[in-house]
Amino acid sequence: MTCKGICARYKAQKPVGVGRYASGQRRCQICEIFIKWEGLWCPCCGYRLRTKPRNLKYKAKLRARVEADSKSDKSIAIKT
Ligand SMILES: [Zn+2]
Ligand SMILES: [Zn+2]
Repeated sequence: MTCKGICARYKAQKPVGVGRYASGQRRCQICEIFIKWEGLWCPCCGYRLRTKPRNLKYKAKLRARVEADSKSDKSIAIKT
């Protein structure tokens, strides 16, 4: 499993305001690149892609946002 340079064609731009994983980008550890790719496997080296952040702090941040969203949903439901 090595980088063949194909991944460069799928290279993802850094999104503004959202995380890379949140915007659907995937990380290949072999190619060391973020790509826009629907599949689970890297189209370049064939290695399994990362779809979730490894960083626990980032995960906690995501979870907090989801909780905040569900709370705001509830307050809307009470109002209506
Ligand atoms: Zn590659
Ligand atoms: Zn790859």
